[in-house]
Amino acid sequence: MSIAQNLLSIKSTLPEHVTLVAVSKTKPIPDLMEAYGAGQRIFGENKIQEMTEKWEQMPKDIQWHMIGHVQTNKVKFMAQFVSLIHGVDSLKLLQEINKQAQKYNRVIDCLLQIHIAEEETKFGLNKEELSSLLSSNDFQEMKNIRVVGLMGMATFTYDKEQIKKEFTHLKSIFDTIRSTNSLQCISTLSMGMSGDYQLAIECGSTMVRIGSSIFGGRI
Ligand SMILES: *Cc1c(COP(=O)(O)O)cnc(C)c1O
Repeated sequence: MSIAQNLLSIKSTLPEHVTLVAVSKTKPIPDLMEAYGAGQRIFGENKIQEMTEKWEQMPKDIQWHMIGHVQTNKVKFMAQFVSLIHGVDSLKLLQEINKQAQKYNRVIDCLLQIHIAEEETKFGLNKEELSSLLSSNDFQEMKNIRVVGLMGMATFTYDKEQIKKEFTHLKSIFDTIRSTNSLQCISTLSMGMSGDYQLAIECGSTMVRIGSSIFGGRI
């Protein structure tokens, strides 16, 4: 199937409250334009330089999501245009995003990444770190960032029960901070990729990040 066909067939299965991020990392612009032609306006990239090059060359009604791990010293390259940063996992990074957003007189939406997988290598905050971040004065003082939700990645495994456990855990953290922090803007739960997005949606995801099932495998 073509990229456009893949995209449309996935979209037709998504419930209305679930947003699709088309993960286009490593893919050339003509591939992205095919998805654009089929109506896709949200693209996810994991490298700031690649995302910036694509932003420069592509239509300006695209919303660019940074889904990869962000290095503090590179925030400045995307502050002008990025629409949502998924992988924020420290106060220090939030402060840098806030500072760079200020320069463009913008408020940048962010998701806090929660560590839910068993692997040590995946980034993210745990529950305690999350609540101390959200209740800190430093956090509350920032005016140019807005935390709109949480993001997580499950363990890379074929064990569906394991993945389900991790997604359910993230959903429960999401529900807890929504009810205890009176943060009205927390509405996005970014979880689910090509291999596990249906399960993620069953577990309460509101945003799925799908790459290879749309654009084909990456080398
Ligand atoms: C690459 C990537 C995806 C998409 O992965 P696929 O398996 O190709 O759908 C989703 N989320 C993150 C954070 C990624 O880096």
